[in-house]
Amino acid sequence: MAGFTVAIVGRPNVGKSTLFNRLLEQRKAIVDDQSGVTRDRQYGIADWNGKTFNVIDTGGFVSNSDDVFEREIRKQAKVAMEEANVIVFMCDVTTGITDLDADVANILRRTSKPVFLVVNKVDNAQRQLEATEFYSLGFEHVHFLSSMTGSGTGELLDDLVNQITDDMGEATTQGDVPKIAIIGQPNVGKSSLLNALVGVERNIVSDIAGTTRDTIHTHYNMFQKDFMLIDTAGIRRKAKVHEDLEFYSVIRAIKAVDESDVVMLLLDAEKGVTAQDLSIFSLATRKGKGIVVLVNKWDLVEKATNTARDYEKELKKRLAPFSDVPIVFTSVTEKQRIFKAIEVALEVYDNRNRKIQTSKLNDVLLKAIEAFHPPVVRGTPIRIKYVTQLPTFTPAFAFFCNLPEDVKTPYRNYLENQIRTNFNFTGVPLKIFFRKK
Ligand code: GDP
Ligand code: GDP
Repeated sequence: MAGFTVAIVGRPNVGKSTLFNRLLEQRKAIVDDQSGVTRDRQYGIADWNGKTFNVIDTGGFVSNSDDVFEREIRKQAKVAMEEANVIVFMCDVTTGITDLDADVANILRRTSKPVFLVVNKVDNAQRQLEATEFYSLGFEHVHFLSSMTGSGTGELLDDLVNQITDDMGEATTQGDVPKIAIIGQPNVGKSSLLNALVGVERNIVSDIAGTTRDTIHTHYNMFQKDFMLIDTAGIRRKAKVHEDLEFYSVIRAIKAVDESDVVMLLLDAEKGVTAQDLSIFSLATRKGKGIVVLVNKWDLVEKATNTARDYEKELKKRLAPFSDVPIVFTSVTEKQRIFKAIEVALEVYDNRNRKIQTSKLNDVLLKAIEAFHPPVVRGTPIRIKYVTQLPTFTPAFAFFCNLPEDVKTPYRNYLENQIRTNFNFTGVPLKIFFRKK
């Protein structure tokens, strides 16, 4: 199972988003070296004791109009039960057990998955006493904590990562068949794309249901190459009941991203890039996945000489800071460039596996460093002596220097650009570290 996912459910104002930020905090400081990557309050990646998992704040999907929220929250609890690996059910000690809490508890008791009852706002000893009331809800895992101060969140994280078994880590597919996830908003053309690929080529090798049955894996052979397409489109149709729920399609998309090497993100040419598209793009980036953007329904756009060029320029501005991403203008209905898109995705897959010889890397980059030095810090010049590509699954580079802490984002970006200019890492997020020599 790829991508362990924890969903936080509960009433508004119990502190879900505060906890969500706490859980993601650790990682923000240590791992996310990509500068300026946007984060949103709906989902993110947590890191604890070397284990990573997805966290989803269902509160990020609830609209604020009072008349819908109770129904929404019940629905979200149900979807969380189906889709997540662990459910964090959050309550607020200051209000005690409300009717809606009792309601949600009833729903959650039906699942065999672990439910962690988190009683929040337990900021002091007095509230510790009051919180004992929540034992009556009858959950096995109970945590009293304060998301605001962070007290108790370490124990919660310990308990959460204990649920992750080794086979749940992210798919490590090196040497395996390239896996391409087809992601995009409803109606962007995902099913049509899959159908077009089936209809024309008839070269599907096999249909393999995803290990979790949440995604469909289809094995293809085209251009003498084997690859797997991962999609959630068909499943979404079967589960009509949830179709209106954004949370549902997002959690499925996250799974498909986790299971893939390369994400093929479809946009609607007329609508342009949406906030949700950018969130998925940013998530895929943080997870080190290769990315190709398809601007689909290109047939509907009225074109002049520079339309594609201008469109691409604007789109890349929105995708910044990671904009070394291939963009393919497709029309699935007119069958324009759909094979091109697959080809490009396979190129990105190769780029992601690229390993640059240390001697070559130093040749090029030490020259670039010579041409443009890092700034002097407190009177001491930063000297970068040596660079090497790390033996990691996704491309990462370590620069060895005297003052690793003092290399700032602009210079880091300069080095990344130099790597990209000299070697082909198009479509691939790069990690860059500075280490003490
Ligand atoms: P959500 O609607 O469930 O996402 O709740 P929020 O995270 O937005 O929190 C609602 C309010 O509760 C905010 O004013 C928070 O500052 C406050 N809050 C969150 N966690 C704690 C806590 O541990 N203790 C106290 N006293 N307040 C908290
Ligand atoms: P999905 O929800 O992402 O799977 O989207 P569908 O594949 O069901 O497509 C939604 C609608 O968009 C259908 O009516 C398709 O015929 C239409 N569509 C898909 N691709 C294109 C395209 O390239 N051009 C045009 N004009 N329509 C398209």
